[in-house]
Amino acid sequence: MAQSKPQNVFAPWDDPNEVPLIRFRNVTKRFGTFTAIDSLDLDIYRKEFFALLGPSGCGKTTLMRMLAGFETPSEGKITVDDVDVGPIPPNKRPVNMMFQSYALFPHLTVEDNIAFGLKRSKMSRDEITARVTEMLRLTRLEKFARRKPHQISGGQRQRVALARSLAKAPKLLLLDEPLGALDRKLREETQFELKKIQAEVGITFVVVTHDQEEAMTLSSRIGVMNAGEIVQVGTPHEIYEQPHSRFVANFIGSVNCIEGRVTGREGGHLRIACPDLGAEVTVESGFEAGAGEKVALALRPEKIAMGRTARPGFENTVTGRVEEVAYMGNLTIFQLRTDSGARLRVTQSNTTRTDADVPRIGEVVQLQWTGAAGFVLGA
Ligand code: ATP
Repeated sequence: MAQSKPQNVFAPWDDPNEVPLIRFRNVTKRFGTFTAIDSLDLDIYRKEFFALLGPSGCGKTTLMRMLAGFETPSEGKITVDDVDVGPIPPNKRPVNMMFQSYALFPHLTVEDNIAFGLKRSKMSRDEITARVTEMLRLTRLEKFARRKPHQISGGQRQRVALARSLAKAPKLLLLDEPLGALDRKLREETQFELKKIQAEVGITFVVVTHDQEEAMTLSSRIGVMNAGEIVQVGTPHEIYEQPHSRFVANFIGSVNCIEGRVTGREGGHLRIACPDLGAEVTVESGFEAGAGEKVALALRPEKIAMGRTARPGFENTVTGRVEEVAYMGNLTIFQLRTDSGARLRVTQSNTTRTDADVPRIGEVVQLQWTGAAGFVLGA
């Protein structure tokens, strides 16, 4: 039975009555003979925090630049709020773009940087002051209003750039690697801040990033790109737990892919013979494959339980030997080899401060997982 979602979950893409804010229809972009974006279709909804994620050169920036109006599609149509933006120049689109370099004016104070775009609009002086005050509050920059960009930190400069991009209340804000210039710690803090600000202003954000953790933390949905195509669109949970392809499974997080052949189906379970595991495994899956068909069992490292003895409650058990151990603080990564030669990666959460029970290199252990732990990928 399908599970119904709680009513307060934000999921306009599941609502057939919702009209997308942005639509890409059959969009292709060629640079000479090279096709950077290939017949792409994509819908993005109001108030979404949508991340474009993919390896370097896959076309993320090109897609974003077409939305902003800095590049023109070779074919196809992009609409924002049902208006074809093709003929509209960048400065007339209801879109703002925040660049990775922030592009702040060094000779202007923080508040003047934020007010810059507003002064060129038809707003009155009082309205501008009120708007700048609101933006300073939103980004917690009140104390720095009179400083120049070189007198504040990198994280604060990032917030000024954000405040300036939001000041004109665009329908859509495009962010190109927005946290790329920040160190790891500040980046993690700022991710939550950015998410909070986006929820408060209710503006649709589209972010380009090559950092999967960032995409997972920030976004309502992720569009995974490869070689000019969107290969999967889904919530962070869907992308991680139900990847449609080996590319997505490998690109987001790490995964053990074990080759095998289907031996049969029992209700909701597929049985797969995996020579490298020396076992026939059971996996809960609706994947349509007939007996003899080549598939792969995909298992995330944290879904495998490891112990010196086998425990009840698991449909699948194999024996392995520990080859490598890497202690990461919050978790430990193990590389194992099964008797029949498969290499498996397992991660364990370090729930206690002692390591007395942790299997050592050379130890033989039982590796176990349930039928629901893995998923099936086509050959
Ligand atoms: P990165 O993460 O490295 O920034 P990206 O996914 O943003 O990569 P794009 O900048 O969109 O990638 O580039 C996509 C492809 O199009 C690349 O192969 C790039 O070399 C090519 N490309 C981009 N702009 C041009 C251009 N003006 N002329 C020719 N080729 C281009």
